[in-house]
Amino acid sequence: MTVSADPHTDFPVGFRGRVLRPGDNRYDAARALYQGRAADEGPALIAQCADEDDVATVLRYASARRIPVAVRGGGHGSDEYAMPGGALVVDLSPMKAIAVDPVTRVVRAQPGVLLGELDAAAQRHGLAVPAGTVSTTGVAGLTLGGGIGHLMRRYGATVDNLLACDMVTVDGRKVRADATENPELFWALRGGGGNFGVVTAFEYRAHPVGPDVVAGQLIVGFDRAADVLGRLPAHMATAPRELGLLTAITLAPAPTLPEEVHGKPVLVLVPVYTGDLGKADEAIAPLAALARPLANLVTPMPWLRANSLLDAIAPHGKRMNSTGGYLPALSADAIDALLTHGSSAPPNPGAATTINLWCMGGAISQDTAEDETAFSREGAAWLWEAIAMWDTPEQDSPYAQWATAVDAALRPHSLTNGYTNLTDDLGEEWRRGVHGSQAKHQRLRAVKAAWDPDNLLRFNKNIAPANTESARAA
Ligand SMILES: Cc1cc2nc3c(=O)[nH]c(=O)nc-3n(C[C@H](O)[C@H](O)[C@H](O)COP(=O)(O)OP(=O)(O)OC[C@H]3O[C@@H](n4cnc5c(N)ncnc54)[C@H](O)[C@@H]3O)c2cc1C
Repeated sequence: MTVSADPHTDFPVGFRGRVLRPGDNRYDAARALYQGRAADEGPALIAQCADEDDVATVLRYASARRIPVAVRGGGHGSDEYAMPGGALVVDLSPMKAIAVDPVTRVVRAQPGVLLGELDAAAQRHGLAVPAGTVSTTGVAGLTLGGGIGHLMRRYGATVDNLLACDMVTVDGRKVRADATENPELFWALRGGGGNFGVVTAFEYRAHPVGPDVVAGQLIVGFDRAADVLGRLPAHMATAPRELGLLTAITLAPAPTLPEEVHGKPVLVLVPVYTGDLGKADEAIAPLAALARPLANLVTPMPWLRANSLLDAIAPHGKRMNSTGGYLPALSADAIDALLTHGSSAPPNPGAATTINLWCMGGAISQDTAEDETAFSREGAAWLWEAIAMWDTPEQDSPYAQWATAVDAALRPHSLTNGYTNLTDDLGEEWRRGVHGSQAKHQRLRAVKAAWDPDNLLRFNKNIAPANTESARAA
């Protein structure tokens, strides 16, 4: 990494948090992200904010000088936008307050909170906020992109349960966005990503969940994978909303499996049933009968464990690539593409290079209309995501090639809309369609123009403001 002259010698002295520059003791630890490629280049200045006043101080400084600003929430993005080389970074990781009101079931979280922390705080009151599946993911980036997980069929996406945001504008003003105050901004914050300002608090509606649920893995031999995937749509069409289902085409995880399949491709079904425990068997047994698994590891367990089962295959600091899309149906051709490419993934011990397939339906598909939020879900029956993880820059090429090949094979079966958080930026055409209709795209550009006309928040899946040259080209 090259260290250049400090471009921020005039950074405001009134900033109360920690300011880190290249060469400072804690700089390298602070710039480390989930995405290992972030280590290749470092930002010019990391402003670790103590509170929203600090956020306002940095943004006022940046907007007065028209300096673009990167934002780090939980640091779990699959790209390096949270710590770009040479950038000024608003780092929210110290802002970790969580407040749970057990009576109203409203949960308020600051943007440095991670999903495991949110889950633990809510579970102390028997509650959960519908969110993601890996406990080290940040609430901030996840929420602003949409938020999907084991509870989405029962309670919807995270944004469907978002009640309000506190936000600092790019020129340093503090505003609130909810259904009545700045409603258009609130609409855009529910799926439009970090394009409009820096969110300093999220308020969610939580729901009773657990403490025990029934979850685990059904490991299906690869010879049966096509048949099982072919029959899943009909099965899940009548499954209860309390049953979440993620499937993965991956290399067999040892040591829970017979030795003969170690290192070989398998189909893994991950059911998570969060309803009445007395009815769990009714929900799981037919799925297990359909799957006829080599190993059935589904068992009662605390929700906190079920919602961190995937942590084991999601280690921090790997170099990674993520791409994905929505499938309107699991056609035979799509299944063939999933299995062909899932079984040819370059292996990486201790991490998942895998194609995941999430079953949509239920609340996420039926309870919130497409145009109610910027997050798009129209027509999506299944969501696929291909994740490649590896260790060194020398390995970049084979893993990136695998991801490109998966994308090329599955894109023709996919919808134009998609989930921004589980796909690295695929360029302008993808960004134009990923939120759904052209009307939604134009609406997002208008909100961007109103709140960030100079596009200072551009280190993201960027929505070009409606009044700029780049927007006219979009
Ligand atoms: C292993 C893995 C598992 C995942 N599992 C799931 C899952 O189960 N469900 C799911 O929905 N997603 C999942 N994701 C995707 C995840 O939602 C995104 O990566 C998300 O961006 C992470 O948010 P973060 O705050 O941790 O990341 P960061 O990298 O800190 O932030 C991502 C981006 O969000 C913006 N941002 C962050 N905080 C703010 C803020 N306060 N104000 C304004 N903008 C902000 C910035 O543009 C930033 O670049 C997963 C990702 C990985 C790598």
